Amino acid sequence: MRRSCSHIRVLLTGWLVFALVAPARGEDDGPRVSIIRDAEIEQLLRDYTAPVFKAAGIHSGAARIILVGDRSFNAFVAGGQKIFVNTGALVEAKTPNEIIGVLAHETGHIAGGHLARGRQELARAAILSVAGMLASAGAMFAARGAFSRSNGSVGMDSAGAVGILMGPQEAVKRSLLAYQRGEEQAADRMAVRFLTATRQSAKGMLETFNRFASETLFKATTIDPYLQSHPLPNERISNLEQAAKQSPFFDTQDPPALQARHDLMRAKLIGFTGDASEVSRRYPVSDMSLPARYARVIADNRFGRLEEALAGADALVASQPKNPYFWELKGQILLEAGRATQAIAPLRKAVALAGSGETPIRVLLGHALVASENPAFTDEAIKVLANATQADEESPEAWEFLSMAYFRKGDSAKAQLAAAEGLFVAGKYIEARTQAARAQAQFKEGTPGWLKADDILTYRPADSE
Ligand SMILES: [Zn+2]
Repeated sequence: MRRSCSHIRVLLTGWLVFALVAPARGEDDGPRVSIIRDAEIEQLLRDYTAPVFKAAGIHSGAARIILVGDRSFNAFVAGGQKIFVNTGALVEAKTPNEIIGVLAHETGHIAGGHLARGRQELARAAILSVAGMLASAGAMFAARGAFSRSNGSVGMDSAGAVGILMGPQEAVKRSLLAYQRGEEQAADRMAVRFLTATRQSAKGMLETFNRFASETLFKATTIDPYLQSHPLPNERISNLEQAAKQSPFFDTQDPPALQARHDLMRAKLIGFTGDASEVSRRYPVSDMSLPARYARVIADNRFGRLEEALAGADALVASQPKNPYFWELKGQILLEAGRATQAIAPLRKAVALAGSGETPIRVLLGHALVASENPAFTDEAIKVLANATQADEESPEAWEFLSMAYFRKGDSAKAQLAAAEGLFVAGKYIEARTQAARAQAQFKEGTPGWLKADDILTYRPADSE
């Protein structure tokens, strides 16, 4: 598991509706989130969502799940058909069903076209806001008119009247909240439909929402990002409960093999993100289960206990020799310990065993091949990393190591182009242009390399950098 070295910018279309959340804000350049790349977790999340996407009529190539390195509970849709899931949500979910329910709800937002409509709603809100301000000059008069209407309907018959009474901001807020409530309930209904269509229960989703709703009562001071983006009034929960219980699959359990993968995923996340006390509390040494050992090996490596980590990784590999991620862990431990040459064999094995969704492991293997500083591995590094960048253009690390491999090979045009691509996907457009210009000068006009450099040179981001 690796935290992406650069932060990618998320285009929060309809952010008011779907992501009040706000991934930590950068200075003045929009929200940024820390993206985590991990072959095992990405594959599991794809396996969780594939049937749901199919039931929703969403092409699985179109929608993507992105893992955010944040231990608070959150999931939201942004930047087109992208579902962002915090590591915290995965750790909190005790069963696959709990997180599949949350993902089904987010899928409901995509299927319902809430993103596109959210944008329109924002535009409408802006118009309302201006209208409110224009009207404020005559507010006293208009307000008197509105108040003169009888019993309780005051100002509620049109948003304009609310604006006059309460001020434009309040009107905008109310309009958006009403809108959001509708969207949330629609997404809940769709989620239940998708879960039923895939013979799964909505119980986990209901339990998760219930937990959030009751926690709010006690934790008045804690603002949970998920609750900000997904308000949970009683009415919403009771509607969901009713729909969920009507399903013949309400008591259906997750398949044991899926639960086992889920347990390993949680152990991995806790091993990689928890502090020493959390790891020993959740996975005491007396616990000899596979997930507990997995978490401890990862934590041992993080906290500098290299020999224990290596011995533990070997024991994991011995327990499940066909588990690609145990081989990957062994390779990663060796690579991080500066033993790149030794990391190559276990990482090759991990790539071969993973079969699909192995791109993050390829990047690790490419890294090891480059870091070995052995010229005999340069061609393999280029092959592995070129393959990784084709499968996943958005990995700045893969481009960076590919650039290094091309430099070793003495191909400075391709090296600089790869460096430019890496900077570009990391959102560093100015530096990317500088590198692209250097690369372009070395390619013949009209060749594929020249054209790729040109794409970067002529790209202008929608908003300022
Ligand atoms: Zn929602």
